[in-house]
Amino acid sequence: MSASSPPPESVEARLERALAENATLKAENAALKAENVELRELRPQLVAALETIALLERQVLGLTKKVMGRTSERTAVTSRRVSDPRDKNDEEAQDKRQSNRTTRDSKAPVEDVRHVLDEQKLEECEMCGSPDVKPMAPDPPSTEWEYVPGRLVRRRHHRAKAICPHCNHIVRADPPARVFDGSITAPG
Ligand SMILES: [Zn+2]
Repeated sequence: MSASSPPPESVEARLERALAENATLKAENAALKAENVELRELRPQLVAALETIALLERQVLGLTKKVMGRTSERTAVTSRRVSDPRDKNDEEAQDKRQSNRTTRDSKAPVEDVRHVLDEQKLEECEMCGSPDVKPMAPDPPSTEWEYVPGRLVRRRHHRAKAICPHCNHIVRADPPARVFDGSITAPG
């Protein structure tokens, strides 16, 4: 609304900003420590889940090969001449591509999800009512895994974060919905 440019920042203002930044860093440090503990606790669960998935994938792949092997043998002997080359290409190539994909994508792809703050929480501090809430560096993203047929997706949730410089109240965007606490699986 106002056309005037902001006045140069005073020493007091800079000091205040430095103090607020310091508080922010302290809060971030505490959050990081907490997250570290959480991650350490989750690691064994994750390893066990990944081992189970790898085992199941090998079993599925083995069964698929058995079934497909039989099918393509039959196809090769009885219907090579009569089959439409395009049908054959579709079925066999798709199976082959799928199994290649399974192998290739075992290095789970990453999907980044950004969670934004409600406008309202940025406009006014929910603790003291100050209008000076400032966006701040977000916490490190939390990671969840989702198994989609053939591969794992690593989904990283980035939650926006803001601080009120008057009361140091920190707000974060809503976390992703979980199926159950401690779950490493995203809801479908
Ligand atoms: Zn406040």
